[in-house]
This record gives sequence, structure tokens and C-alpha cells, in this order.
Amino acid sequence: MDYFKYNKGELFAEDVNVEKIAQMVGTPVYVYSKATILDHFEKVKRAFSGLDTTVCYSIKACGNINILKILAGAGSGFDIVSGGELYRAQQAGADMKKTVFAGVGKTDEEIIAALKAPIGYFNIESEAELENLIALAKQTGKKTKAALRVNPDVDPKTHKHITTGTKEAKFGVDIERAGKVFEQFGKNEYVNLCAIHIHLGSGGKTIDPYCEAIKKILPLIDTLRSKGFKIEALDLGGGYAADYQTDTVPTAAHYAQGIVPLLKDKNLKLILEPGKSIMANAGLLLTKVLYLKQGGSKKFVIVDAGMNDLIRPSLYEAFHFIWPAKVEEKFSFLKRTDKLDIKGLEFVDVVGPICEATDFFAKDRAIPPVQRGDLISIFTAGAYGFTMASNYNARPLPAEVLVDGKNFKVIRKRQSYEEMVAPEKPY
Ligand SMILES: *Cc1c(COP(=O)(O)O)cnc(C)c1O
Repeated sequence: MDYFKYNKGELFAEDVNVEKIAQMVGTPVYVYSKATILDHFEKVKRAFSGLDTTVCYSIKACGNINILKILAGAGSGFDIVSGGELYRAQQAGADMKKTVFAGVGKTDEEIIAALKAPIGYFNIESEAELENLIALAKQTGKKTKAALRVNPDVDPKTHKHITTGTKEAKFGVDIERAGKVFEQFGKNEYVNLCAIHIHLGSGGKTIDPYCEAIKKILPLIDTLRSKGFKIEALDLGGGYAADYQTDTVPTAAHYAQGIVPLLKDKNLKLILEPGKSIMANAGLLLTKVLYLKQGGSKKFVIVDAGMNDLIRPSLYEAFHFIWPAKVEEKFSFLKRTDKLDIKGLEFVDVVGPICEATDFFAKDRAIPPVQRGDLISIFTAGAYGFTMASNYNARPLPAEVLVDGKNFKVIRKRQSYEEMVAPEKPY
């Protein structure tokens, strides 16, 4: 569910015609819908209300402070993976007690900043990291809680670059080793190791890997408790599917139907770390057609956004639905799919201006005919869009706009050339 729709052939974000945004802010520009963000968040909260659940939105999906503020205001905690994300959460006025900190390479500076915040849990990825956390907690006199990241060794059968929950991944420790970590560090006076964290990675399209992982972890929790370790929480991580193609993946309610019964009466607090399932289809990338070009039998639509603005297609071969912002009435619908069988569409490659063969958004994609100057929308770009943007080819970072009903505001202004080179001064 989202709040983007066509009205008489023109694309609206909530009640704002996106053409107006392009005119005032220029392109490329990320456009987010506040109502969609809140709708997604509330649905997760409601679906899991049968358990003592804290939703910790994963900042790396989309970290604009204005968006974090909206989520914090709705009661969200945050999942952070760096000192920079800790800083963003603090700037957004987040409830730091509802913040969890993951990542295999936390630096001393990052750990100390998080101890001082103080955050809710450190998600521990290795014995060496835990030892270092204990040393730093002692040194600063700041006690903290930690969750041990355990690898349940289930494979959500997603893209090889985004699978993290199998044995061979660099994240966490396996179930057998988890027991030993608790034996060694489980009764420390500075770091209270009292939770288990699992994060399978991203992109699975069914709820099965989550249920399988929980079934593998619960016996571990029982064993640990029987040995006198107090396990108060299970952090299920993120990776819940997002609607890149309309209605193809489980909803928050579906996940809850599978997960909640497994954890009922287990005396465990539940932490969830959704990222893309909250933000992906709450945002789109608006871009303008610069040129049309015929190459052999192929037709290229060259747009003013590039892989530096949105890298998911190049990086993960990710699918993003692409449709012009202004269309004939018969194309005036929004069903994100690559299986369209309508007369009058053209098969094109939608590509960016960057000097790389991988600079594309779609290949052999059917879209309504477009011309130079037309606005095109790349949908479901709210997560891992702007946060992965770079200055490659000396292209300034794009603007971000937040729509709220019939109003919109620039929540990050387009970078200027001066701002782009400023850190290099003096030169
Ligand atoms: C990236 C990440 C998430 C969020 O993943 P999504 O696929 O965006 O839901 C949650 N937890 C951890 C530890 C992560 O690294």
C-alpha cells in the first residue's frame, strides 16, 4: 500500500502533482510520502502488538533526519550500524534506549559514543568485539546491555550479495559457538549479555526463513536459560520483503501470523529492525528524459539520474518499476510489475549518463512512449536509494523532498558544485 497514484494521467504523491516538484526542485529528485511511511510503520506495530515489541527502523535504508523524526514521533526506535547513524538518530531526537547497534567493525570511538548515548543494546558479532566492548565499558564506567548475533544458518534464497544468515557469512557466530560465548562472557558486570540477535539479510519473499530461524534459536535460548543466563529479548533483525512489485510479498500481518505464535508465552521481548519494508515504496526517484537513442535493434532512453543516484539495479540487478509521470488515460494505473501486456508500449533500456556500462535502471522494459523532456518515475526507490548515492562522475547528490498531504518540502537540498568540492579546500 502506498500513496502514489495517477489521476487523469498525471502522477501524484499524496495530493501533490509530482510535475510541480520537478519544476520547483529540479531533477533528479527523491520524493517520499509521509503517509506511506507512517502507514507501513503502524502496520508493523499493530501486527506484532500481541508481543512486547520494539520496532527499530533500520537507518541505513534511508537516513534523512526529517524522516527519522517522523518515525521517532510515531514511537519507532532505531537500528544503527555506525557512529554516523548514531549521530543521525541523536539529531532526530530519538529515544536512545530504543536504539540497537549492529555491525562487524565497530570502532572504539563509535562504541564509546554509543555507551554514552546510552543506547539499548549492542548487537555483538564476535568474541573479540565483545571483549573490546567490556574493556571500553569498564574504562568509561558505562554499563550496557548486549545481544549476541547468532547465525541460524538458514538461507532465504535471495541475491548472493545480500544473504547474511548462512554459516559462511561474516556476520555473527554459529549456534554451537553461541553457548561458549555465554559461558565465557555471559555473567559480566559491565556488559549484560541478555539477548539474541538474528538478521538473515534481505530479500527473502516468504516468511519461512524467519520461522525456521526462530525454531532453531528457541532451543538455544532454553539451554542458555537452564544454565542460568537471563535472556530477555530476541531481536529478529530486518530484511522483510518490500513491495517492489505490487502485491507479490508477505505483508507485516503475514509475517506476524507466522512469527507471533512461535514466540507467545516465551517471556521474550521482541525487537524488529525493518528497513526497506518501511521505506522502499514510500519513495520514488523522479528523473527527466535527456535523449532517445537507437542502437542496433535497441532503443535507449537516457535520463538525468545515474547509478550514482540509485545504484540498486547495477549492484543487485534489482527490479524497479518505471513509468512516465504523465501518460495517456489507458496507461493511467499503477501496478508495479514487469509483466505488462498492453498495446502501445515500447521496449526500451532506461540508462543514466554515467561512463559505465552498468549505469542502467531497466533493460528491455515495456513503457509508454516518451520524448525528450518528459518526466519519468523510478518507483520503490525510498530504501537504499539516497543512502547509497555518491558523487561519482562529480555529480552532486540529488535533492530529497517529503510530501505531506497537499504540501511538500525539500528535506535535503540538492548539493551544489561548491558544496561538492568544499572539503578539498584550500586548493
Ligand atoms: C540492513 C539491516 C537491516 C535492515 O534490512 P532491510 O532489508 O532494509 O529490512 C536490519 N538489521 C541489520 C542488522 C541490518 O544490517
